[in-house]
Amino acid sequence: MMVLQLGDCGLVPKVHGTEASSCRFCLLECFKSSWSSHKSVHLKAKLSSPDTQNSGSVSEGWLYCLKSGQARTPKLPYFDWTGSLRPYPISSKRVVPDQIDKPDWADDGIPKIEPSSGLQYTVEVKTPDQIQRMRETCHIAREVLDAAARIIQPGVMTDEIDRVVHEATIAAGGYPSPLNYNFFPKSCCTSVNEVICHGIPDARKLEDGDIVNVDVSVYYKGVHADLNETYFVGNIDEESCQLVKCTYECLEKAISIVKPGIRFREIGEVISRHASVSGFSVARSYCGHGIGELFHCAPNIPHYARNKAVGVMKAGQTFTIEPMINAGVWRDRMWPDGWTDVTADGKRSAQFEHTLLVTDTGVEVLTGRLQTSPSVFPWLNS
Ligand SMILES: [Zn+2]
Ligand SMILES: [Zn+2]
Repeated sequence: MMVLQLGDCGLVPKVHGTEASSCRFCLLECFKSSWSSHKSVHLKAKLSSPDTQNSGSVSEGWLYCLKSGQARTPKLPYFDWTGSLRPYPISSKRVVPDQIDKPDWADDGIPKIEPSSGLQYTVEVKTPDQIQRMRETCHIAREVLDAAARIIQPGVMTDEIDRVVHEATIAAGGYPSPLNYNFFPKSCCTSVNEVICHGIPDARKLEDGDIVNVDVSVYYKGVHADLNETYFVGNIDEESCQLVKCTYECLEKAISIVKPGIRFREIGEVISRHASVSGFSVARSYCGHGIGELFHCAPNIPHYARNKAVGVMKAGQTFTIEPMINAGVWRDRMWPDGWTDVTADGKRSAQFEHTLLVTDTGVEVLTGRLQTSPSVFPWLNS
C-alpha cells in the first residue's frame, strides 16, 4: 500500500503499528424475477439455522476468526473488550462459481498487482471506457447493498447479510471484492454498534436498538465499486439516531465540495467541522481511497481536519469518501481477529461511503441511491 499518515483505508489489516487503507444483488432482470424464490430460500435457511445467540454451542464448521482470517478457534479469544459487543463464530467460506472473473487474491488471499502498482502514488485519470465500466459495477454494488438493507431486522444474523450480499453479487456476475482480500473471510463487512469498520459477518443476531453498517464492494468487468451505509435495527435511541444522521450529512457535505481544483485535504476539514458541531469525533485510522482496476490506490483521503493529504482533484478521477464518525473518542482498538476495529471507549460509530467520479463541473456519485432503493433513512422521507 502507499505510505500513509495514519494508515490507509480499506481492507488492509494493520501491521506492526502502521495502519493500512479501507475498504451487491441484482439489478439484472434475472435476479429480480427470481427474487421471491430467493427470498423463500433465505427464509427457510433462517428458520433452520441453529440458535447461536447467547450460547456457546454452534453447529459444526462455525469457528471464531483469528489473525486476519488466517486462523480459527473454537473458543472465544481473550481480549479487553471495549464495549458490550463480542465476536461470534463465523461460517465456512462461501463459493464463487468458476465462470466469474476474479481479482488476483481470490485463490490465495494475497493481492499481487495492487501493492506494487504505480497507482499507489499517482492518481489515475480514467478513460471513458474505464468510467463506463465503473458506472456498471457501481450500479450493481448499489443494488447488492440495497438487497442487504431489505433483510435487516432484529433476529437476523450478520452472516445472513453476508449470504445475501454474496448471492446477489454472483447473481449479477460479479465477485465480492472483500472475499479473501488479505485473507478477509467473508464477502462484505458488517460493523455493529461500537465497530468502526471491517466487522466480520458472524453468527450474532441483530438486536432491537443496534446500528449496523454494511460495506459492499464488487469486482465486475475488471473494476471495483465500494459503498456502505449504516442501518437502524428496530427502535433506536436518540443519540444513535443523531450519530447516523450526522454521519450521512458528513458524507453529503464532503461530496458537495468535490470538483476539479479542490484539494483532497479539504474533505477532512468539511467532515470534521460537521462532526464536531454535533459533538462527535472522526475516526482517523482508515481513509477514503482511489478505486478502479485496483480495489485500493491513490489518492488517500483522510476524513479528519488538518490532514496532510496531497494533490488536487481532476476530472476523470475516481475515489471513495467514507467518514467514520464516533459518538465518543476517535481512538480505536483492533480485535484479536485482526480486522474488527472498535472504538476505544466502546461507544458507537457510524459510517457512510460512496464511490465518486470527478466530472468537468463537479461530481457524479457512481454508487448513488436508486428509485428502487429502500426507504431506510427517515430524513430522506420528508
Ligand atoms: Zn467500503
Ligand atoms: Zn472503501
